[in-house]
Amino acid sequence: MSCKWEKYADWNPWHGCTKISTGCKYCYVYRQDEMYGSRVSSNIARKTAAFNLPVRRGRDHNWKIESGKVVFTCFTSDFLLKDADEWRVDCWRMMKYRRDLWFYFFTKRIDRFLECIPEDWGDGYDNVLIGCTVENQEMADYRLPIFKTLPIKHKSIIVSPLIETVDLSEYLDETIEEVSVGGESGVEARPCDFDWILNIREQCIQHNIPFRFHQTGAKLIKNGRLYRIPRPFQLSQAHKANIDYKIDKYMVPESIKFEWEDDV
Ligand code: SF4
Repeated sequence: MSCKWEKYADWNPWHGCTKISTGCKYCYVYRQDEMYGSRVSSNIARKTAAFNLPVRRGRDHNWKIESGKVVFTCFTSDFLLKDADEWRVDCWRMMKYRRDLWFYFFTKRIDRFLECIPEDWGDGYDNVLIGCTVENQEMADYRLPIFKTLPIKHKSIIVSPLIETVDLSEYLDETIEEVSVGGESGVEARPCDFDWILNIREQCIQHNIPFRFHQTGAKLIKNGRLYRIPRPFQLSQAHKANIDYKIDKYMVPESIKFEWEDDV
């Protein structure tokens, strides 16, 4: 029996990003760089040593990333960042080549999607999942109408960091495989009210869309009281709230079927 976490891999082909909306204010990439004393400014994107990780093999000639894994892609930047336009072409090729993996990225730049896709994209690669991130009503009303029109096989909405109440109702239809909601982390985090989360959950139930509460954030308001939640407990406390709807045990939409499903 293997651990659920062994089913995932991280792939950060580049690092560094420019802030684009209020959700970026306390971006964890900037916070991590500061914590580790990075000499390069966080807003400068640079290719990492892991750039071609999906197509690398070990000494035993096996893939470094085993077949069947979910690869969380570009979580120390934004996959659709303009500064990475030149590099992305190779990434699409690797994603297409490794059709035995699932690649999942989140973006706040969905408005750049059509200028970023490869020529053979068609109506989407089967093994690429894309989460459109929104943090408030303004960004939901700007990004989600664009997202709705795009040729993508697997779409999810990531509401994070949730910094105000958001009405997603008009964007919830059968093309959305999951809505995932979380508060903001970091010492300066803006508080997230549990009622906002329950409200989005209710919208998802009304539209029969899977809903996930993926993390509490550092400051959660519940029944008018502010709770400070240390980083190590932000995921587990959200899980303990037990408010997910139509969500299975994996960190991806349940429409994704895995060969290893019986293995955990
Ligand atoms: S888009 Fe994401 S990675 Fe880029 S600055 Fe904003 S929060 Fe950070």
